[in-house]
Amino acid sequence: MKPRILVVEDEPTILDNITYSLGTEGFEPHGCATGGEARAALSRGPWALVVLDVGLPDVVGFDLCREIRRTSNLPIIFLTARASEVDRVVGLELGGDDYMVKPFSPRELCARVKAVLRRFSPAPVESAPAPHGAFRIDEDRAQIHFSGVRLILSGTEHRLLRALCAKPGRVFSRAQLMEIAWDDPGAALERTVDAHIKSIRAKLKEVSRDADPIETHRGFGYSLRENL
Ligand code: CA
Repeated sequence: MKPRILVVEDEPTILDNITYSLGTEGFEPHGCATGGEARAALSRGPWALVVLDVGLPDVVGFDLCREIRRTSNLPIIFLTARASEVDRVVGLELGGDDYMVKPFSPRELCARVKAVLRRFSPAPVESAPAPHGAFRIDEDRAQIHFSGVRLILSGTEHRLLRALCAKPGRVFSRAQLMEIAWDDPGAALERTVDAHIKSIRAKLKEVSRDADPIETHRGFGYSLRENL
């Protein structure tokens, strides 16, 4: 079955180009031009991934992303007209998995879609994550539970937390975490790792107010505390 991709973009030419390209690359794209249409389409899932324009006529793409993230870790690639929005796209509470700044080539977008889907599908387990007191990793469902609560994570957050949980106590540099969680680490900035970690921490705090299982190693990177 072809992966179904929901494309939300209000500029008809861009929408046509994207859906055409995705169609030729073996996907089943479905286009819509407004947030309202997107909500209706989302309820008719399942979807493999959403391509989401930030500037829609009836809703800001960021808000739609937040709505989606309340219930799902469906991969999301943002389309943005402004490079200045990129920090918001990858950062904090938004939980986007990747982004494209307009203008971009549909071919490049298809490559990103494939990369995000690869990254999102459960990776072959080289080192099976050890059970860790507070965390439980469900590899089959690609879910991570913390203190018994399922975390709603973006694909990138999932890969980062999974890596930390696999080796409690081990300190990972930002560059190492990027290697693990990004397919094209060269394209990302090290501070995007910080933004994703910040977002993961916020989600852990929602589960347990005083929880702080991720330790920062200044100037180097992060580790998961061994004793929680
Ligand atoms: Ca737009």
